[in-house]
Amino acid sequence: MGTMTKTPPSTIALDGPAASGKSTVGKRLADQLGYLFFDTGIMYRAVTWIALSRDMDLKNEAAVTAMAQETQIDIRQPTQNDGRACDILVEDRDITWDIRSGNVEAYVSIVAAYAGVRKALTDQQRRIGLRGGVVMVGRDIGTVVLPEADLKVYMIASAEERARRRHTELTARGEESNYDEILSKMIERDRIDSTRAVAPLRPADDALILDTDNMNESQVYERIMELCK
Ligand code: C5P
Repeated sequence: MGTMTKTPPSTIALDGPAASGKSTVGKRLADQLGYLFFDTGIMYRAVTWIALSRDMDLKNEAAVTAMAQETQIDIRQPTQNDGRACDILVEDRDITWDIRSGNVEAYVSIVAAYAGVRKALTDQQRRIGLRGGVVMVGRDIGTVVLPEADLKVYMIASAEERARRRHTELTARGEESNYDEILSKMIERDRIDSTRAVAPLRPADDALILDTDNMNESQVYERIMELCK
């Protein structure tokens, strides 16, 4: 009997609510497989940051959409060793950490609900994803961006557990953080993301649901690696 060698899935979609651990495990998986790690939330955050920095009215869907269609968001190899997975630049300005601010998080779900914004960003994401060799992380990768993905995982964890993880992460980075505030804002963001008309947050029919409540980072990683085999 000959030995069977199976190649790992070429496109991996990781979806789930805020702070479900998608990015951490996705980055590790991509590094291990030699794949591109693509965190699509960055793009929605960048568009939101630009709108805020230009004092745009975020309720003005047409204006925000036009801006999203025109602006180039550059995502490049990291030039600084400060915990970032990549550099994010808009008009040559490094906004890598700016897009993680509470202000951006308070408005990003509003911007991400606009059909035209989603179309502009989804087209770019899909073009990159179709090249293969990619771990793509977001809310709608398995359902809309790459419905043909070879492996789809939908990560869940209780809101309390996710808020606790985010709180620990911020505190470790030396940032001020309030657990109750994180929890309520996260629940609100998930609510908007899962009830919007276009590409709502939900698992694809063929996604594997991974409940990480009682798992640590390494266990989540090992479990998804197993699924790749
Ligand atoms: O994953 P992250 O928390 O960075 O995403 C920020 C926001 O971007 C989400 O709350 C959601 O509103 C939006 N998003 C989305 N679709 C994706 C990725 C992110 O709507 N594929």
